[in-house]
Amino acid sequence: MTRRSSPILQVALPVPLRRHFDYLAHEDMPEKFLQPGMRVLVPFGKSTQQTGIVIGASSTSNVAMHKLKRIIKVIDHQPLFDPAHFELLRWTSEYYHYPLGELLFSTLPVALRNGKAAELPSVVVWKIRVPLNDQRPAIPVRARKQQALFDLMQLNACGLSEQELTSNFANWRGPMQALLERGLVESQSRPASTAANNHAAIKVTLNEEQQHAFDVIRSDLSSAKRFLLDGITGSGKTEIYLEVINHIVRQGKQAMLLVPEIGLTPHFIARIRERINARLVVLHSGLSDSERLQSWLEAREGCADVILGTRSAVWTPLKAPGIFIVDEEHDPSYKQQESFRYSARDIAILRSNYANVPVILGSATPSLESLHNVDLDKYKRIVVSGRVDNAVLPDYHVIDMRTRKASNPLSEPLIIAIRKVLEQKKQTLLFLNRRGYSPVLMCHHCGWVNTCSRCNLPLTYHKQRNLQICHHCGSQARPAPACPECHKAELLQIGYGTERITEVLADLFPAATILRIDRDTTRRKGSMENFVDRINSGEADILVGTQMLAKGHHFPDITLVGIIDADRGLYSADFRASERMAQLITQVSGRAGRAKDPGMVMIQTHFPAHPLLTTLLQHDYHTFARLLLQERKSVNLPPYSYMALLRAESFEQNMPVTFLHTAVTLLNNQTTELEISGPFPAPIEKRSGKYRFQLLLQSDNRMRLQKALLAWVYDLEHLPLGKKIRWSLDVDPQEML
Ligand code: ADP
Ligand code: ZN
Ligand code: ZN
Repeated sequence: MTRRSSPILQVALPVPLRRHFDYLAHEDMPEKFLQPGMRVLVPFGKSTQQTGIVIGASSTSNVAMHKLKRIIKVIDHQPLFDPAHFELLRWTSEYYHYPLGELLFSTLPVALRNGKAAELPSVVVWKIRVPLNDQRPAIPVRARKQQALFDLMQLNACGLSEQELTSNFANWRGPMQALLERGLVESQSRPASTAANNHAAIKVTLNEEQQHAFDVIRSDLSSAKRFLLDGITGSGKTEIYLEVINHIVRQGKQAMLLVPEIGLTPHFIARIRERINARLVVLHSGLSDSERLQSWLEAREGCADVILGTRSAVWTPLKAPGIFIVDEEHDPSYKQQESFRYSARDIAILRSNYANVPVILGSATPSLESLHNVDLDKYKRIVVSGRVDNAVLPDYHVIDMRTRKASNPLSEPLIIAIRKVLEQKKQTLLFLNRRGYSPVLMCHHCGWVNTCSRCNLPLTYHKQRNLQICHHCGSQARPAPACPECHKAELLQIGYGTERITEVLADLFPAATILRIDRDTTRRKGSMENFVDRINSGEADILVGTQMLAKGHHFPDITLVGIIDADRGLYSADFRASERMAQLITQVSGRAGRAKDPGMVMIQTHFPAHPLLTTLLQHDYHTFARLLLQERKSVNLPPYSYMALLRAESFEQNMPVTFLHTAVTLLNNQTTELEISGPFPAPIEKRSGKYRFQLLLQSDNRMRLQKALLAWVYDLEHLPLGKKIRWSLDVDPQEML
């Protein structure tokens, strides 16, 4: 290491290496103007340029001075985020053991990753000049146009943009110039914001329980308090969020509201708009790159009061954060399941810490982690126990499928119930968490099953598109007309997806309007809004949907919910499966009877006496959750212990195993305090042609686990084999697939 007088800039680049890169400052831009968080363009590799982010400066480098390259260009005039946000990103990088460069870039809108300017376009705004004394120069009587323009401007004290002037006053430039010369008006440029300030009309009076919840939250707004808003579906939690958000916005602060599913955003946009006078921006993957950038910038500049979004919105910097709210906090979609495997719920909690403002986690079916945190006094639980307007929770009916014909996906009692609902002109929701037509295509003669050659798993048949699609890697093929093994043309469709159930229903109820709502039918922009409209207008009779439909929606006319297959959660390799099943059943059931009419839930299962199912149905989610918590405690599983999962995959079958064995040796050299299981093949052993293995680490002490990971990841990165395969570390894994 050599000491240098001129500081060296440390730059993070989007590469999978846990290190930064050193550069010299640009000749025209001395390093003192370069602050952490500013983007720069740097030479990287042989002939490429790369956008990087300055993360610090130092007077020394491991690279010899004459070998250091110079920054090509400075992209930003100011850091992308403030020091506190930057600190949070650094902390996250350490916690998830994810390279800082990759992390910084993955939290940015794509447009910023690509080097687009981080500035809101500015608009020129004209406004009346306030004179120092009351002596305003007069406008001559003959100058009627000037007077008219002046009158218009007086009505708009905050100023009018040139665009607004053009649409309100023909040929305004001439008279404006005259007013300017008289010293009556002035122009300034300000960032153009699209976050519309609306005029909310609807007022809601909170009921007693809601008011209590609101009071508890309001009394503690100036600390990083964590609230678990635990209220059954339809208890009015959203209304409480809105009240809190309104309160925060009136104080001039910003509120961030996260929802688990992009399909829920139209619903929340509408409810926010009708209740709160605020500038709202939305952030989710359905936006174009430039829309996303715009929302991000408006949040950062403080032009937006309310930031509504899905998982990745949690990374949006805020100018004046006032509260973070995570709706349906138990939802697995808050955990990103690829590359940077963060939990948006946990990041929201972290952000509340850094900003010293509260976070509200809301759910009708809180995660076991959150319930455990209540036990530990880390979260304050607020219960909302009644349904708005005293709507009652639905009745459950378990239908034993063992006694029925296996070829019928819908049991007789369910069909009768649907018929009755149709007669009453109410709506039925049928839940099936499997899209497509049928999950297995099998030869009737030799038993051949059409599988994905890259994953060794059955392909799902999609009838409308006439494709066999692998739901694991996405590969597609035209369905074979005959069996490739025995050449007979009798192929059987085994099992039911949403597409096929819809077909069965159409046969049974030809006059009914049936909507299928899943990822396949909601791909187009606006399609979810369209479905929601058709449901709310009463046009739809039967809804068939995947978990998309289980979440958050409020459809008052649904009186019957049918769960077509409840069995998948009862026996599964994943220890979280039963928690997920209970949440899903409770959530789906919560869609029934949300208004005046009582609801009914019918659950089809082959295990009607399964203790988990009976506990859930005879009692409630909370009794069930207590039981699960005891179980987890007795076998020392999360939330009573902490996990990290090291995954490795490669086209070469042996490499991942060898890599993981080496990883075990490295870890054993370092500590004996962790429980190590594996290497095991992943539950989905082959995906996209790659063989997949994993190693599970566990400890009842989070710090101990973290400490071990820190040194270990660094070692792994330097293993030669680690460069030949793909590996990743998942801290707090949520699924083992
Ligand atoms: P949750 O989020 O707990 O499922 P919501 O906040 O969506 O419940 O409330 C369910 C329904 O009841 C919504 O249509 C909402 O507008 C209505 N609602 C909630 N609180 C009130 C209230 N205090 N007065 C009147 N209607 C309410
Ligand atoms: Zn065959
Ligand atoms: Zn596949």
